[in-house]
Amino acid sequence: MRIGILGDVHANMEALTQVVEAMRTESIDHWVQVGDIVGYGPEPCEAMDLVLQELQCTVCVGNHDAAVVGLLDPEYFNSYARQAIEWTRAHLRPQDFASLKQLPLVVEHADYTLVHGTLHMPELFGYVLTQVEARESLRQQRTRISFVGHSHVPAIYIERPGVNELEMISGAEPQTTFPEDASVLVNVGSVGQPRDEDPRAAYCIYDTQTRAVAIKRISYDIAAVQDKIRKAGLPDMLADRLALGV
Ligand code: ZN
Repeated sequence: MRIGILGDVHANMEALTQVVEAMRTESIDHWVQVGDIVGYGPEPCEAMDLVLQELQCTVCVGNHDAAVVGLLDPEYFNSYARQAIEWTRAHLRPQDFASLKQLPLVVEHADYTLVHGTLHMPELFGYVLTQVEARESLRQQRTRISFVGHSHVPAIYIERPGVNELEMISGAEPQTTFPEDASVLVNVGSVGQPRDEDPRAAYCIYDTQTRAVAIKRISYDIAAVQDKIRKAGLPDMLADRLALGV
């Protein structure tokens, strides 16, 4: 089975449609999204429809998704994120609130586990940025591979039995084929707001047969979404950062 994994979408339809078009050439059998469909971006309803209805993604809840529906206190967010959460609340349809409220913190599928932050504290939405957090999360992992988001920075962590150090594969487009007895955590990067100083949208492909996992990048029309962000009255900073990938 070939699994297509979407990271933090953040209501950026320019990035999402470009990514989905590229992924449709990859023979995807099963679609997954690691949370934060909404927040920051100007088209939350359209992003919800594409992820949940059209692609029928298996999804876990992100911190922005949770805050928008009142399951997480917006005080935990910086002022730009808070303004975007308020804006998103005012623009979603009733059915979107119902859909977001139903998203689980963790999804344990036969072939993978999904969590937005970490498996050792999913409700706190911690970041996986180093081997330290990856190791803690891997301790709670019962499937061969997990997919996480939240940091918007791609990386693959591989734990081999009997080997003390975790292997970390980083860079804009990390990829590997891992051994059968390894445990793997993939931080899939972000579709709609990359933060690794590479503004291109990220997406991930995993083949359960070959155990090949790859994060790929694709350019999209950043100016178009920046224009929509400004016209929507969202903070300018949320438009500016997209061009820098921060
Ligand atoms: Zn996010």
